[in-house]
Amino acid sequence: MWSLKPYKSPPSTCPSCKSDNEGFGTWQFTGLHLLGIGRCTNCGIKYYHNWPVGHGVDFPISFDDQSSSRYPQKSKKWLAEPLITAIRTGSNTTASVERMVRQTISDVLLLNCLDPCYGHILWKLFNAIYYQDLEDSQGIIVLIPANCQWLVPDFVAEVWSVDIEIDLLGLPIPQLDDFIREMTNQYDSMHILPASTHIDHGKFDLKPFLRIDKFDLVSFSKQQVCITFIWRQDRFWLSSTIGEWLNLIAIKYSQAWINQWLARKQLQKIKQVADLVLEQIPNAKFKVTGLGTYGIFPEYFNDLRQNRPDPKTEIEWCSTYQQSQLVIGVHGSNMLIPTALAAGFIELIPKSKLPFITEDILMKHPARFQTFLGRHLDLLTSAKLIAAHAISMIKDFDYLYKHTLAES
Ligand SMILES: [Zn+2]
Repeated sequence: MWSLKPYKSPPSTCPSCKSDNEGFGTWQFTGLHLLGIGRCTNCGIKYYHNWPVGHGVDFPISFDDQSSSRYPQKSKKWLAEPLITAIRTGSNTTASVERMVRQTISDVLLLNCLDPCYGHILWKLFNAIYYQDLEDSQGIIVLIPANCQWLVPDFVAEVWSVDIEIDLLGLPIPQLDDFIREMTNQYDSMHILPASTHIDHGKFDLKPFLRIDKFDLVSFSKQQVCITFIWRQDRFWLSSTIGEWLNLIAIKYSQAWINQWLARKQLQKIKQVADLVLEQIPNAKFKVTGLGTYGIFPEYFNDLRQNRPDPKTEIEWCSTYQQSQLVIGVHGSNMLIPTALAAGFIELIPKSKLPFITEDILMKHPARFQTFLGRHLDLLTSAKLIAAHAISMIKDFDYLYKHTLAES
């Protein structure tokens, strides 16, 4: 494991002459990245490289101040270019850091969860589960955005919470670099955990993070039917390829009126699904959670949406998912916690997200139940077909459940 104390830094490859270099003696903690800074022993240029932490494990990036850079193409748009541009232009942002000490430790395992993508923050945080049984002097410190701090498990020794909007976390935070240097001096050792973003959630319990049990399948048919829709206003439920194009235009050119039009269409589609379900399951109740408060739902929806949810709201949403036979939403990190707690899900997936189909799903049932209760449908799927899936899942699961258990 690489460490800031005793100092042990990883090797890197020069972006100019491609020579391999031993670990550099200078580092910079940007927030998202831990960078090594030094000179190539072969060609002499000064360059930066990311330590193999988080996505740095799979995507090594090295670059100089001018024009040389080296990184996997797959990481270009979302990881490499934002980092290189920020360092070359000297862009940065500001944020205060709060330190919460729960347990006195001298040997630190630092788990850096800072990331401009909400889903990545969660996946990095889940790594904490593997470091519960440590020696007395050792402990994990979780570095995390303040609005995700409610998810940090109780066994974590310290929480360093950064008060910042998540989407700004691609930029270097000089105060954080100062803070990490100061803190490093206060411990006997500080190792940096790899913070994998692809760990197997099937192998551990999510309760230490969510602090609530998931929906109990025994109650599936006994409990009043509750379907929760997950709302977001930057990726919409669509009905045609025209909508897909408009969505792309709205994102690229920040056209608010298109967003509003798509949000109105989305609201109508959710209402259509609910109305079709009600025809077959008259006592079903509907809730809607998520980011954004566009429009007004009919009175038979319990509208729990927020523009800026605080921890109290997040916990209330968790309770809603835990009582839902079904959550329905568009693919994205917005589906992680809902699919961890609800009995089943329907996810609408854009074609561009097919390679990432598993990344936002935390549901874990035995295989037969998982197939039945976890449905991926195309983003353009009609309200009628979404409702047909929902109705079948609600009405037919009991038969599968009882017979599967009887066989085992
Ligand atoms: Zn070189």
